[in-house]
Amino acid sequence: MTLLAGPASPPVPAPLRRDVAGAPARAGDPTDASPRATPYLELAPAAAVRRFRRLAAALPGTAVHYAVKANPHPALLGALTTAGCRFDVAGPTEVRACLAVGADPADLVHSNPVARRDALAECAALGVGLFVVDSPEEAIKLAESAPGSRVLCRIVTSGSGSDWPLSRKYGCSAPQAIEVLALAAGLGLRPAGISFHVGSQQRDPQAWASPIAAAARVFGLLREHGIVLDTLDLGGGFPAHLEGGALPLAAYGAAIETALRRSFDRADLPRPHTLVEPGRSVAGDAGRVVASVVGVLRRGDTRWVYLDAGVFTGMVETLDEAIRYRISTSADGGPTGPCVLAGPTCDSADVLYEKQPVQLPLALAEGDRVVLRSAGAYTTCYSTVGFNGFAPLATVLVDG
Ligand SMILES: *Cc1c(COP(=O)(O)O)cnc(C)c1O
Repeated sequence: MTLLAGPASPPVPAPLRRDVAGAPARAGDPTDASPRATPYLELAPAAAVRRFRRLAAALPGTAVHYAVKANPHPALLGALTTAGCRFDVAGPTEVRACLAVGADPADLVHSNPVARRDALAECAALGVGLFVVDSPEEAIKLAESAPGSRVLCRIVTSGSGSDWPLSRKYGCSAPQAIEVLALAAGLGLRPAGISFHVGSQQRDPQAWASPIAAAARVFGLLREHGIVLDTLDLGGGFPAHLEGGALPLAAYGAAIETALRRSFDRADLPRPHTLVEPGRSVAGDAGRVVASVVGVLRRGDTRWVYLDAGVFTGMVETLDEAIRYRISTSADGGPTGPCVLAGPTCDSADVLYEKQPVQLPLALAEGDRVVLRSAGAYTTCYSTVGFNGFAPLATVLVDG
């Protein structure tokens, strides 16, 4: 009996994990034949700094606090703090990340309205002095764990006009905010003002007008009761360049300025200090996910394109197809056709776009590069553990 000789050993797979904070690399151009193993997020901190400066210029007089959760890469935080950006944090780990790159704890806002009391105490011990709550319960917890802190109360918004609404989880009504802030004063906290978030990737600059007017009513009513608020947190929601385009940041600045002027700027209601908490609009356009095609096949009448990155390796915001990235590929140029875009894991939810298919080149084949653009926000941060044997999304820093 003859045994057929097989290959001496199986081919050695490329290492799954790559250096996360390595030196700037040239990569990511879909026509670049660089052999770097995919998938990875290509991140340009200098591009995030440009976006920060553009937003700051569109909102003169408003402090910009980058929402760390969008992308907490230390090189990004470091470049932003050097440029004068402040930060929005959700707990002690993010506080430490900011302090590690030289941020002043007095420039941090803790905007997580429901937090563990030990986490609140830790943030206060690290020097954070401004916290957001949205309920009497959390005001009491804050008074006990971070006594004497300044406090903002978050009011709810409709979230309409945004691709990723945040409306129901956080925020109370304006009348409830009056009660929360009055209670906070009685508990020895220092009522500072109102915060809100109009929903992420907010496409309508007018979305800020109604919550600004509601905030002004709270400021006015509390002033009648001797509580003078001085801070208005306008939240995040400013857009990145996703599918469907985005209005310039100047349009947002103009709409917000008009709303502030209409609701405040009166003798009995002076304009408060304002701040914004952008995440997506700073980090989104500073990064892109570079993936490879694992396979292209037909199921019935439908073309399926499988990538080596998916919902569980970075693109969690494609759940419900809410966030739609612009896509370019190494096969661009020829005719295109619709396809379903899927990720590599065996989970049936690992499908990026199916209800509304994407148009990709008909020539697209195994090994081609696929680049998801403006994907620097909410990708690596949701991809911290490997799933189904697929490594978390690595970051490659680039200039630019
Ligand atoms: C996530 C978050 C942000 C950032 O929102 P973007 O839509 O990415 O700008 C701002 N503020 C709070 C409280 C958040 O939770």
